[in-house]
Amino acid sequence: MFQYDLVVVGSGPAGRRGAIQAAKLGKKVLVIEQGKRVGGVSVHTGTIPSKTLRETALNLSGWRERGFYGRSYRVKDEISAEDLRRRLLITLDHEVEVLEHQFARNRVQHIRGKASFVDPSTLEVVKDDGEVVKVTGASILLAVGTKPFRPDYIPFDSKTVLDSDELLDIDELPRSMAVIGAGVIGIEYATIFSALDTAVTVIDPKPTMLDFIDREIVEDFTYQLRDRNMKILLGTKADKVTRLDNGKVELKLDNGRQLVTDMVLFAAGRMGATDTLNLDAAGLEADSRGRLKVNPETFQTSVPNIYAAGDVVGFPSLASTSMEQGRIAARVAIGAVAKEPPKYFPYGIYAVPEISTCGLTEEEMKDRGIPYECGIARFRETSRGHIMGLDTGLLKLIFSLKTRRLLGVHIVGEGATELVHIGQAVLNLKGTVEYFVENTFNYPTLAEAYKIAGLDAWNRMGDIKSEL
Ligand SMILES: Cc1cc2nc3c(=O)[nH]c(=O)nc-3n(C[C@H](O)[C@H](O)[C@H](O)COP(=O)(O)OP(=O)(O)OC[C@H]3O[C@@H](n4cnc5c(N)ncnc54)[C@H](O)[C@@H]3O)c2cc1C
Repeated sequence: MFQYDLVVVGSGPAGRRGAIQAAKLGKKVLVIEQGKRVGGVSVHTGTIPSKTLRETALNLSGWRERGFYGRSYRVKDEISAEDLRRRLLITLDHEVEVLEHQFARNRVQHIRGKASFVDPSTLEVVKDDGEVVKVTGASILLAVGTKPFRPDYIPFDSKTVLDSDELLDIDELPRSMAVIGAGVIGIEYATIFSALDTAVTVIDPKPTMLDFIDREIVEDFTYQLRDRNMKILLGTKADKVTRLDNGKVELKLDNGRQLVTDMVLFAAGRMGATDTLNLDAAGLEADSRGRLKVNPETFQTSVPNIYAAGDVVGFPSLASTSMEQGRIAARVAIGAVAKEPPKYFPYGIYAVPEISTCGLTEEEMKDRGIPYECGIARFRETSRGHIMGLDTGLLKLIFSLKTRRLLGVHIVGEGATELVHIGQAVLNLKGTVEYFVENTFNYPTLAEAYKIAGLDAWNRMGDIKSEL
């Protein structure tokens, strides 16, 4: 009766993982993607481009070597926008090739065009040349992701006032930049450009930033940013943004401050890309930020045969979690068993320096009334840290005093997003402080910080368990 068992709208992490999962289980699957190439925001404007840009910036600026050779050390003196773009294009090409190959290998069909609902099981696809085709699916998976929020009072021009998608196409590196929005995307780009010697000012109306991260980690991070002269203006809003005749941009803040800058990056939020889906025809409704409500275990919407996964369903809005959501949604949709993933997943902020975290923060431990002890290690205490010339970097472990189990791992510094997985494994496998104290770690490594932090906590915990 239906042309496909599953029709997926969007080829980002949620869509492609869902599509491949269903195809691996023998189902007939179609992916509809409006972009020129498959991959979604993750490949073309989000995760991979920003991380490639970061890597290029760190390599060409010689950032990682400055601990030894001083702050003025540079690998390349004049880094251009073209330098940054070159590596980006090669990386993206490679990513797309891998994805196309995955689709072909798993016999996932895909067509290029913009999808919208005709009824809950039928989608109309408008192709680039204007041709319109209709497709039907027993189940539909909406993995349409998000697009940058662009309020009317910001005079976007793709050159000097931009959103995070447009930032990838700049012709020249700015000497100064204001970043509106101290969320993950704003902070990542702010610190990357600061590593490239751009004078960066971050502005956010909230009095604090990165609220979901352990406060001690954010304090250390903020100290490092201020130490290299980044301006972080919290608790203040950019009321007026004006492009000036001399090509610069003026910002008037609600606290009376004014600044003139070469470029403004507006990175204060994203909207679910549901406005063109004709949701009414499917009996669905999005919230004020374009997001869809789903059952958090099955990713089913209020319409039984329609599922939604990835950024379009909101928090945590990560490529990593979107993939898992897409996989679970596809399994439920085709009637296969879908096991829930472990409760704690890692969060990575690829700023300079990196932050990564998994499990409970110290603030959450207090709120939940769990007696705890923390262990801290600084990277400069490890031999690997000496070899690498690191004078920053911090790893914090939080243990329950009752069970001695690891309940939180929080890292700021070089390699944080890789290192966190050791803590994640111990945490999800319900390991205790003894794991770190009793196990041997490769030497010299930054991972040795786990042992140091474990011992730090253990020394203070003693044999407390028996006393509780
Ligand atoms: C700058 C930036 C940096 C990021 N860094 C990280 C990171 O380091 N780590 C991490 O885990 N996450 C990161 N993210 C988040 C990550 O990119 C998203 O979580 C992820 O892309 C969401 O995947 P998705 O499958 O929901 O949708 P997307 O990747 O957003 O893909 C949705 C796709 O649907 C298509 N589509 C939309 N509407 C239609 C339609 N009507 N018809 C046809 N096609 C349609 C779009 O063209 C798009 O290709 C970052 C995001 C940004 C913006």
